[in-house]
Amino acid sequence: MALPLAGLLLTAASAASAAAMVAALKLRFKLGILSALFWLAMLWVLSRIVLQHPPAVTGVIGPASAQVQRLNLARRAQFAIAASERVMKAMTEARSRGDSVTEAGQEAVERERRYFQQHLDAMWARAKAAGQIDMEAAVHGPLLGWNAVKGDRRTTPECRWADGKNFYVTDPPDIGLPGVVHVGCRCWASAPHPGGKLLPSAGTRRARAA
Ligand SMILES: [Zn+2]
Repeated sequence: MALPLAGLLLTAASAASAAAMVAALKLRFKLGILSALFWLAMLWVLSRIVLQHPPAVTGVIGPASAQVQRLNLARRAQFAIAASERVMKAMTEARSRGDSVTEAGQEAVERERRYFQQHLDAMWARAKAAGQIDMEAAVHGPLLGWNAVKGDRRTTPECRWADGKNFYVTDPPDIGLPGVVHVGCRCWASAPHPGGKLLPSAGTRRARAA
């Protein structure tokens, strides 16, 4: 469901379109296992949280920004679905206890609103890192160097491993892009490292197979 929802989120302009989005998804997923409570939960999650914060219109300035924009959109859709499932679960549990279903749903939506703020922060950090990569590519060309912070324990093994290697911004490495490997990733792109190895990517695998 994440793919069609991502498509709808791309075109949805306002919170008013939440009902239309849910209607479109209902048509597409005529699945009995998805209960009426799920659609109600999704309506709330979309109208009160996700569509209240439309994606930042930063403009796509290069290949890294384009990749991150697609990633962020997919993450939005995944959040909307997971949050709807959690809200539905809270309502189902309230119903089985004999408590107010609406109240339980509202409380669950409030919790999701706080989670979504963390998602927004992460999406913003990814967009910012991608913009910096595209600016480096504008100066140095598509081949760039990967740099990780050295000398402290916060750098993850995969980021340390990528340090000193190179990558093509147009053929993103399997581990992602510098600055977006994980939440709090502090890696950055620079001019390519002379003699640096290429990080594994779809492109390097194709070249090896040829
Ligand atoms: Zn990193």
